[in-house]
Amino acid sequence: MSIEQKLRKKFPDAEIHTRVDARRILTLTGQCASWQQLVQIGHMAAKDENIKNVVNKMTVKGLTIPKKDYTPYKEAGEKLGVVEDVDVVIIGAGISGCGIARELSKYQLNVLLVEMSDDVATGATKSNNGNIHPGYAAKPGTLKAKLNVEGNRMYTDWANDLGFDLQRVGALGFVTNPLLKPALRAVYKVAKTNGVPAELVSGKRAAEIEPGLVKNGLAGKVKQALWMPSMGLVEPYQVAVALAENAADNGVRFWFDCTVADVLTESGKVTGVLTNKGIIKAKYVINCAGIYADEISAMAGDECYTLHPRKGVIAILDKAKEPEYEALCNHVTWNDLKLTIKNMKAETKGGGMCHTPEGNILMGPSAMEIPDKEDKSTDPKSLSYAMGRGDDQIQYGDVIRFFAGSRPADYKEDFFIEMSEVTDGFINVGAIQSPGLASAPAIAKMVEGILTDHAKAHGHPIQKDPNWNPKHEEKPVFRRMSREEQDALIQKDPAYGRIICRCEGITEGEILQAIHSSVPPTSVDGVKRRTRAGMGRCQGGFCQPRVLEILAREQNRDWTDITLKGKGSNILLADNRPDASEKEERA
Ligand SMILES: Cc1cc2nc3c(=O)[nH]c(=O)nc-3n(C[C@H](O)[C@H](O)[C@H](O)COP(=O)(O)OP(=O)(O)OC[C@H]3O[C@@H](n4cnc5c(N)ncnc54)[C@H](O)[C@@H]3O)c2cc1C
Repeated sequence: MSIEQKLRKKFPDAEIHTRVDARRILTLTGQCASWQQLVQIGHMAAKDENIKNVVNKMTVKGLTIPKKDYTPYKEAGEKLGVVEDVDVVIIGAGISGCGIARELSKYQLNVLLVEMSDDVATGATKSNNGNIHPGYAAKPGTLKAKLNVEGNRMYTDWANDLGFDLQRVGALGFVTNPLLKPALRAVYKVAKTNGVPAELVSGKRAAEIEPGLVKNGLAGKVKQALWMPSMGLVEPYQVAVALAENAADNGVRFWFDCTVADVLTESGKVTGVLTNKGIIKAKYVINCAGIYADEISAMAGDECYTLHPRKGVIAILDKAKEPEYEALCNHVTWNDLKLTIKNMKAETKGGGMCHTPEGNILMGPSAMEIPDKEDKSTDPKSLSYAMGRGDDQIQYGDVIRFFAGSRPADYKEDFFIEMSEVTDGFINVGAIQSPGLASAPAIAKMVEGILTDHAKAHGHPIQKDPNWNPKHEEKPVFRRMSREEQDALIQKDPAYGRIICRCEGITEGEILQAIHSSVPPTSVDGVKRRTRAGMGRCQGGFCQPRVLEILAREQNRDWTDITLKGKGSNILLADNRPDASEKEERA
């Protein structure tokens, strides 16, 4: 039976047409009844091992699938004409783009990273759990499995060079239902096949590793556990900012508010990109556009995968609650719930309960297929799912924020990283869904290899930069210093004596450091990602106006220009205070 016949048999009510090209890319057209069904059809088509990937152009009866309109960006860029000529353009300043930028900064290359938002880490990179997964969840043999395990290992070097927090807390999966022991052993087998350091341990040993089991009254009930010590935790935006700053210190330039609206090609070769800031000519274009990577690839004439957003909602608990809940999740733990048949069959792991290096507890994420790439809404169902993944003692009142992000999943449910088979010089770094953060160092290395091998094969090998500096300059973190160190710092610079964010204890000195860094923030959230000002219990209620004022002063901008998170999110709309002459008149 052909794939089309199989699909029609399984979904008799849907209108399904398939076309497979010489590269084994299967294109789906037709119409079905719901978005969930459209995704299921895509998945089923992709299951065929002879199919490289799936482009899903099906429509849903009665549903308008939202699409980004690139026309205004195109028109703006065409008016400006050619504005730059570089060796490499990287599209997207998430963890993938920043990691690759830093990797390429080792070479004598003119690299420009363009990002459509106002800052680094505004896509999936800012809305994830910061888990540096060991690699037990990825299907053996996939690119995801390989890069996850390699990337996890490489994080130690990244953290040493770049100075971000990495906690190797380890992961503990356990079962209390003896019937689930074979399922736990199956996960162990996958972990071993993927090359993950993993050990099956007794309930007694599990309770020694995770005292939370004792506190929860579970210690005596654990029948068997799986211990994977390589699991790590990071603050994801901290990693992305450190990578970007180190890349910038080594010569990579960053253009923000710069949307790629077209990829330019000539005789099967990439020649640059058209952006709202003009045409940037380039020998190589690297597509790290997250959830939009499929659209960028299509712009390059290589329509070879479709991304379907899989939204995840996460709840953050008040940091003050950590001591209370700490014992429940010293490590990243999961239990019987996750090993039920329903969860084992899911395309994504979904999440449980973990803490961040800074001491917040995270609940979730959920996992939901949605049609709109921009949908970051949170809904009661996802919220209760996220909250239900942890301990019963956790209260909604302890939550300081819910947020959502979308995983950019393709239908093969694997990463899609390759030099385009159609457009030479165009490199796809697509479908970087979870564990994209954990895999980032290995993704960057792989792309470095693709690019340098290509250049060598085409007779222009790329030279290393002898002045490359792998070290990212560490900035003072006031709240972690001893009293004596704090006093000495304030003596040197009184700005460290002024607390701006009371919840997190962030000083003006730290905010100034961030604003004057090599990749400076321009919005209040940009300052938040770099310093944590606004990440505490009050969520910026107290410090937001102070941060706004400092940004305006230091960047010589009007208060009304300062945004929360880029274009269209201005905080103050007008200065309606009476000026001096009006005041006199009133008097
Ligand atoms: C809820 C959730 C939880 C997760 N948890 C984990 C976890 O614990 N561990 C883990 O390893 N992974 C996790 N992930 C996955 C991880 O977050 C992603 O794999 C990773 O962040 C992807 O990074 P990226 O740089 O490829 O994409 P992104 O971070 O999305 O960056 C893409 C960038 O491209 C820009 N862009 C898009 N189109 C254009 C254009 N036309 N022009 C210019 N710029 C453009 C976007 O603005 C964006 O900044 C999670 C994901 C979600 C959603």
